[in-house]
Amino acid sequence: MMSVLLSVNQLSVTFGGLHALKEVSLSITEGSIHGLIGPNGAGKSTLVNALTGMAPLASGSIELAGEILNGLPTHAIARAGIGRTFQNIRLFSGMTVLENTMVGAHRHFRTSVLGLLFRTPAARTEESERRSMAMQEIDFVGLAERENQIATTLAYGHQRRLEIARALMLNPRLLLLDEPMAGMNTTEKDELADLIRAVRDRGATVLIIEHDMQVIRQLADQLTVLHHGELLANGPPKDVFADPAVQDAYLGRAT
Ligand code: ADP
Ligand code: MG
Repeated sequence: MMSVLLSVNQLSVTFGGLHALKEVSLSITEGSIHGLIGPNGAGKSTLVNALTGMAPLASGSIELAGEILNGLPTHAIARAGIGRTFQNIRLFSGMTVLENTMVGAHRHFRTSVLGLLFRTPAARTEESERRSMAMQEIDFVGLAERENQIATTLAYGHQRRLEIARALMLNPRLLLLDEPMAGMNTTEKDELADLIRAVRDRGATVLIIEHDMQVIRQLADQLTVLHHGELLANGPPKDVFADPAVQDAYLGRAT
């Protein structure tokens, strides 16, 4: 059964006079790995920002499993099931791997700040649950035994894995990865691709932005191509790469 998890309809985002996204529609199949490509400035990060309530929508709608998300604040969208990482890594400096991961589940838990301050039994139970969930995710992304290391002292590739661990803490139905392989060598990219498949295999759907055509061709079930804020192509990688419009606008460029 191929059901649509995310449905984006005629989405537009403008910054001043600039159309960062112009009437973009696409759908993402549940259980798939969906690639998002396009030249720099095409609007890829803007789409991820729009889907997570971090970019203002001029028009259009976003539905996750039938629930309308446009207009909801970021935390409500996270709770509804969309997790993300950032093109520019965002970790808390001075905090450990474990602490950075635990932050990901903050809104998941009911205990109030006061409860945490006074360390009520309920707060302590939640804290320990959160800790053990975080340890599992740290292990899952391949950072076992680094939990006490200061996050920003990790190698770059490990920081990207940590961001994924943090995003997984809310158990997202859809995980958005904005250039998670940037700056990686071929081996690191292959290893991260395996992690992304493992995320998919545990039930999440993945949208990934990636520039390496070799990698995305092998990893993605479906591809969406943006160009100057507009949808250029949508489909299985082999069809998209064979599309003359894509070759002209994107692949034909000097790389
Ligand atoms: P991509 O991720 O595909 O490289 P972006 O989504 O980052 O592209 O950017 C698309 C366009 O929108 C670019 O022209 C960029 O300068 C512009 N843009 C993105 N975010 C903002 C913002 N917060 N304010 C103004 N312009 C922005
Ligand atoms: Mg970007």
